[in-house]
Amino acid sequence: MLQPIYDEILGRNPGEAEFHQATRELLDSLGPVVARHPEYTDAGIIRRICEPERQIIFRVPWVDDAGQVQLNRGFRVEFNSTLGPYKGGLRFHPSVYLGIVKFLGFEQIFKNALTGMPIGGGKGGSDFDPKGRSDAEIMRFCQSFMTELYRHIGEYTDVPAGDIGVGGREIGYLFGQYKRITNRYESGVLTGKGISWGGSLVRTEATGYGTVYFANEILKNAGDSFDGKSVVVSGSGNVAIHAAEKVAALGGRVIACSDSSGYVVDEAGIDLDLLKEVKEVRRERISAYAEARGGSARFVTDGAVWDVPCDIALPCATQNELDEKHAVALVGNGCAVVAEGANMPCTPDAVRVFADAGVTFAPGKAANAGGVATSALEMQQNASRDSWSFAHTEERLEQIMIGIHARCLETADAYGAPGNYAAGANIGGFIKVADAMLALGVI
Ligand code: NDP
Repeated sequence: MLQPIYDEILGRNPGEAEFHQATRELLDSLGPVVARHPEYTDAGIIRRICEPERQIIFRVPWVDDAGQVQLNRGFRVEFNSTLGPYKGGLRFHPSVYLGIVKFLGFEQIFKNALTGMPIGGGKGGSDFDPKGRSDAEIMRFCQSFMTELYRHIGEYTDVPAGDIGVGGREIGYLFGQYKRITNRYESGVLTGKGISWGGSLVRTEATGYGTVYFANEILKNAGDSFDGKSVVVSGSGNVAIHAAEKVAALGGRVIACSDSSGYVVDEAGIDLDLLKEVKEVRRERISAYAEARGGSARFVTDGAVWDVPCDIALPCATQNELDEKHAVALVGNGCAVVAEGANMPCTPDAVRVFADAGVTFAPGKAANAGGVATSALEMQQNASRDSWSFAHTEERLEQIMIGIHARCLETADAYGAPGNYAAGANIGGFIKVADAMLALGVI
């Protein structure tokens, strides 16, 4: 019944493989929903939800340190504003094109709905590659990017944040330019800001911490815990580092992490202070961790980080980084839980391997929702001109993740897929948006 809708998506959005994958993954879960709710089909909800409300593509020219003019392309896809202003990060990475921004914006609709916060879904970014660029080049790029983006965003319209390649430094340059152009101190226009200029405590840590809180709920549900578990985390950026930090706090041992150049294995447990120094301060490749650590650590370029035996896997780098072959290796080595810190890091074939092997799989749209949820907490603090303590904000984050976990399980049960977190997340997020879309009419 949903195949015609998928065929229409393929026809309307040619060449956007990641977007096709994300929509297919949702549609695959919606069979029992359309059977029970014919009103969604009558109102064209599924077809409308798969079509962005607005897609903006713009030129981003800038001058590098050698005085050469450089050219990039900027994107903002404002996907769905039924529940609130568009909300979702900006990604700066050479792989960025419309299909990636649309997949991310699409996922964001349902993720944001699951948080229970009043935020719609959107995503943006650029094919700009920040690697090897000086601070001054990053600043000029961000200023040029915002010189176009500012007219499309706002506290009540569209609120971007960070993603791959966009952290506190970039948000600072973007916010500075927005403030300058508009002559307004509109803190609520961007999240992920620095603490002294409108940011929220815990926002930096939130996605990684939230993913681990979610995984912890899975373990608790099975009468288990992180205590003594070996954990492999992919990536070594914002999400990966803070996921590793929370695993360690809960008694687990992170024995491997990676970047796009390879991975490190450290049987003594990753030294998080050293990892932060290498990746966040020195901005070096992951091999520098192994060099500095010596003894217990080694840098590997063959195969994948998923070859390292572990109890729990947390993919926290990028989309489609964990395929069928990697899933087979994880299962063979006894991995029991996979929770996605990144967006769509596991391919559909990998997810199938996990399902067949009885490995518990938590999809990103549920497990990594702590980042955007804490962005919404940052917006609350901005709106009330308040700032909350670390402990209070973290407590809110933990409760939100516990709530999302429970909603996934309840929804999966209610729709005949007990224990299936992917079905629970897809259906739970979809129904929340679909009901609101019905109420707002055909717009
Ligand atoms: P960062 O830029 O901080 O880190 C990304 C990490 O992933 C780096 O270690 C990077 O390595 C690695 N990576 C990126 N692309 C590849 C690739 N093609 N192959 C191998 N490794 C790669 O980004 P974040 O930590 O913020 O984001 C990571 C994931 O989490 C993304 O999927 C993002 O969408 C998702 N996410 C992020 C949120 C946030 O709050 N930041 C919120 C929700 C989801 P290298 O440096 O070598 O490129």
